Amino acid sequence: MRAAWRKAGPLLAALVACGGDGSEPTPEAAPTPRPTAPPPATAPPAPSPSAPISAGPPTSPTTDPPPTTPSGPAFAREKAVDLIIEGGTVYDGTGEAPRRADVVIDGDTIVHVGEVSDKQKANRRIEAEGLAVTPGFIDLHSHGAADASLRNFLSMGVTTICLGQDGKGPENDRVRTWAPRMRKKRLAVNVAPFVGHGTVRNLAGAGVTKTPTEKHLSRMVREVERDLAAGAWGLTTGLEYTPGRFATLEELVAVAKPVAAHDGVIMSHMRSEDDDAIDAALDELITQGKRSGARVHVSHLKVVYGKGEARAEALLKHLREARERGVKVTADMYPYNASYTTISIVFPDFAKPPNQYARVKREQRDQLATFLRNKVKQRGGPEATLFGSDPFRGQTLAEVATKKGKPFEDVLIDDIGPGGASAAYFVMDDALQTRLLRDPMVMISTDGGPYSSHPRGYGAFAKVIQEYVVKRKVLSLGAAVHKMTGQSAATVGLDAVKRGQLEEGWAADVLVFDPTAVEARSNYERPRIYARGMSFVVVNGRVVVDDGKTKKRKAGRLLLKPAPKEKEDPSR
Ligand SMILES: [Zn+2]
Repeated sequence: MRAAWRKAGPLLAALVACGGDGSEPTPEAAPTPRPTAPPPATAPPAPSPSAPISAGPPTSPTTDPPPTTPSGPAFAREKAVDLIIEGGTVYDGTGEAPRRADVVIDGDTIVHVGEVSDKQKANRRIEAEGLAVTPGFIDLHSHGAADASLRNFLSMGVTTICLGQDGKGPENDRVRTWAPRMRKKRLAVNVAPFVGHGTVRNLAGAGVTKTPTEKHLSRMVREVERDLAAGAWGLTTGLEYTPGRFATLEELVAVAKPVAAHDGVIMSHMRSEDDDAIDAALDELITQGKRSGARVHVSHLKVVYGKGEARAEALLKHLREARERGVKVTADMYPYNASYTTISIVFPDFAKPPNQYARVKREQRDQLATFLRNKVKQRGGPEATLFGSDPFRGQTLAEVATKKGKPFEDVLIDDIGPGGASAAYFVMDDALQTRLLRDPMVMISTDGGPYSSHPRGYGAFAKVIQEYVVKRKVLSLGAAVHKMTGQSAATVGLDAVKRGQLEEGWAADVLVFDPTAVEARSNYERPRIYARGMSFVVVNGRVVVDDGKTKKRKAGRLLLKPAPKEKEDPSR
């Protein structure tokens, strides 16, 4: 029996022509205060597709131009090729107009996009009439073990992940010692590693000191240099976490200089995402980029407890002005209005290392209680904090406080503590976040992985298509695909290893799907449900999701940045 996805033809046509029928169910089932969905964003005039680095138009397109038909000679070669994906609508990742074309794959490489001779032999053909054919999605901010099954990623079309985030190198290790181990393993998706600033700070002996010595600094720089030479794509920072929060500006500039020399990127979990502190945090990142010459990138862009489109516009203006001054700054975000992290995010610095929590509790209890009360209230109150870890999993802070018959700040102080839980925080405003998503500087990430307790790890990329393309028509499919492929590749530098575009000579990471069938099924109560709707996922030329079914085979690769020869460290 022909699969159900075959019926998609007219639906895709409708989506291309008028933006879809909007009949998708919403997967969100948050048990706690849910931001009410605003009316669909009004469609601005569609500007031309964005360029990744130059200051682009203010919003990404909401509609795609009609598909073009390629001209030029039909592909024909003597030998059979491995795979032909026939008759699909190709969104090649560049943001250019879609085209009706066949995609020819031989080995691990795309050998042609366009017309194919009727006589061309192939070991396998996939009929893609009426379906979208795109590059595999690239997740700019991923968590998890590189060698896990990573079906969470594959089921939503992610074929490349960026590991080593938030200042923590992959497995909290040096890239140059981690990479040889990974080379011996089988990977389900392609993995691009980053040096973690926090990892390096610890390795250099600076730990939680606020005043790193010259020796600390030169050790950190050396660590970064060596990992870049070993193929890391850049450096990540986690300035809201320990030990990243102790980093000085001088230190951040120093560790960014080798990144600039290697043409890498700094990905930053900034010092704050709070409404009243994010602009200062952004200035710090922009200064780091300006003084070092490195490209800088905001991880999981959001404004915690900020509200409204105008707030988003102001923040985006801040980013745009930096770009106009020559700092190459970009951002990624996940399409959800709750964040997820450890409860330490609501605790004050004085209750965290190197200070002893037990002593703080004893000697500064009133001060701590006041801080927590204000902080949590500022973040939407105890109803907006939903625990994802035991023993309070599935309950809000308000519910736990009621059950225990005491104020929520006492629950935080006595029953939990700064390291005692993780939670989802319903702290984002839909209008604000949606405006960020529409910006041409902003790309997509999961900020999740196979062990996520937030639905984003299993749903982010599917949700972009399901909700923001098909249902709300906030982005055209071509614009969304660009944000999830070609633009992301260019931001990291993965275009150097031919990832992120459907083009002759590029790596055969390819998706075939009906956009109206893509469904993010994970939610806050059940965050680990696989997404649906990818008919075929091809990784390095091998079909790993076949007619909707995930295969056991692992076809991913470790992706290392080709280091410029003259930059190689002779001491390696
Ligand atoms: Zn982060």
